[in-house]
Amino acid sequence: MKENEENKRMIENKRFKIIAIFVLVFSIIIITIGIVRIISSKNKKISKESEETTINTQAEGNNTIEVVLPVKKEITDWRLTLVNKENPLPEDYKIELSNIDKTRQFDKRAIGELNTMLKDMKAQGIQNIWVQSAYRSVEYQQNLYNNSINKYLKQGKTTKEAEELTLEYLNKPGESEHNLGLAVDFNNVDEGFENTKAYEWLNQNAKNYGFILRYPEEKANITGIEYEPWHWRYVGKENAIKMNDLNMCLEEYIEYLETGNSLT
Ligand SMILES: [Zn+2]
Repeated sequence: MKENEENKRMIENKRFKIIAIFVLVFSIIIITIGIVRIISSKNKKISKESEETTINTQAEGNNTIEVVLPVKKEITDWRLTLVNKENPLPEDYKIELSNIDKTRQFDKRAIGELNTMLKDMKAQGIQNIWVQSAYRSVEYQQNLYNNSINKYLKQGKTTKEAEELTLEYLNKPGESEHNLGLAVDFNNVDEGFENTKAYEWLNQNAKNYGFILRYPEEKANITGIEYEPWHWRYVGKENAIKMNDLNMCLEEYIEYLETGNSLT
């Protein structure tokens, strides 16, 4: 009996050992799988984080560049040359001119489109259109300016008063788009032009010939010039169409091209 019992116990011990080993091995496998999973997911997380960090760093880098050193794209398109009070024409600005008629001239590179536009207008029944003023040399503008100042000084005005009175109707030499050879004034150069068929036609079609209304009423605070329905500026067809689509004046459009920031 005792022997039998001992045998039984030995057998039970053996069973217990086998089960214990089995459980141990099983546990080790489970734990190993668990550890491997944890490690791999951690690695994934780390690599994801490092990706995000890179993106963040890049984004922060861009921001820093924008704030500290604004990267402005240089505009090399001659058709977009900006001339206003802040951007006078350089004194050595060279320009090749072609004749519109006996007394009026325009930039040689753009006169073809001006002529085609006028021809098409007339062909479509708008006869009452003519170029009153186009290119003016800086020298000519300087003479006009000096004469006006002298006239007021002789009348006993101070230099400051003479300057103010002159600037009411004349731009300083080099600050007029007419010095650039890319601007035209139509007909009588007065606000009545706004109510003509020619103006209506220009508003609809001028962009297709590369011309824009340079000083629109609603942009006077940006251009610094009051509404001039008679004054049209050549900027090239694709620019003119884009400016119309974006509803931007030249100052806004140049800013948009330089920085990529839309102001509207
Ligand atoms: Zn003008």
